[in-house]
Amino acid sequence: MILLYLLFVCCVVKCYEPLSAQSLARLSSLNLGCGLSLDPDDSNNHFVHLNKTRVPGSKGSLEVREYIKDHFDELNKEGEVWLIEEDNFVEKGYNFSNIVVQTACADARDKLVVAAHYDTLIKPEGFIGAIDSAVSCGIMLDISRALNGLLRSHLDEMDMGLAFIFFDGEEAFEKWSATDSIYGARHLHSKWMKSAELATIDLFVLLDLLGGELNYVPSYFPQTHENYNDMAILERRLLNDFPEIMKSQNFFANPSDYEREYFGIIEDDHIPFLRSRVPVLHLIPSRFPETWHTINDDFLHVDINSIKRWNYLMAAFIIEYLELPV
Ligand SMILES: [Zn+2]
Repeated sequence: MILLYLLFVCCVVKCYEPLSAQSLARLSSLNLGCGLSLDPDDSNNHFVHLNKTRVPGSKGSLEVREYIKDHFDELNKEGEVWLIEEDNFVEKGYNFSNIVVQTACADARDKLVVAAHYDTLIKPEGFIGAIDSAVSCGIMLDISRALNGLLRSHLDEMDMGLAFIFFDGEEAFEKWSATDSIYGARHLHSKWMKSAELATIDLFVLLDLLGGELNYVPSYFPQTHENYNDMAILERRLLNDFPEIMKSQNFFANPSDYEREYFGIIEDDHIPFLRSRVPVLHLIPSRFPETWHTINDDFLHVDINSIKRWNYLMAAFIIEYLELPV
């Protein structure tokens, strides 16, 4: 009876296995960060293509959307890994398009979602939104390229899928309110609620305002405090294995001396999902960078070292979460 009970528990509870020391060490073989540089002449550099205004429905928005889809189409050329979908809709006279890219693994019922918004504020004119949130989009593009071969080899065995969501319309046009903000997230949430896809999100990780000098991220929600700690542990292990990349700065609180500190809710694309009780890990610094929502939020004011650290950490977290053999 006890054995049966244990078997039952093992079947229904996903046991979280930390990334092995060997797998962690092999991260260096994935060429992480190749697409993340501040060199405008580097043809692999995603930021060159994201370095423009991306107001919903605008030419810049369309160009970036095409760039993102072309990136995943290109990755699919050696065998289909990614299902690429556009979620188009019109609200308040604006055309919006979310881009949803998911691993084509037939047997995975649930998925890890990693999301960021690609649109920019309409004012100030010329606003580039590097930390808000082109950097996070670049990280998602770089990681998808670095993990592509690994995912392709293990697609048939994966019981957890991976989805990257590039949200449109996070920013308000006039003044932030429940009806003037997170257009894309509200739309996709309601679509996925109707189709029951919402229930397949095992964890929703939202990246925002990453890539500046202020990077401390607190644990915002009790529901995902364990995931926060898993990431904090990974950060420390990476710091140990890759000190030249991770440097000394800590993004996360130390789990061992951590007092659960739940900050007030920051309004962002996760809100509709959170309200539907989807587990949300919100990776946004508690102190916003000084360039936030100013014309200085451009690629001259990002910290490339912190971008590369976030990139390593997110890649390691995804590999660990999906239990991908590296
Ligand atoms: Zn913003």
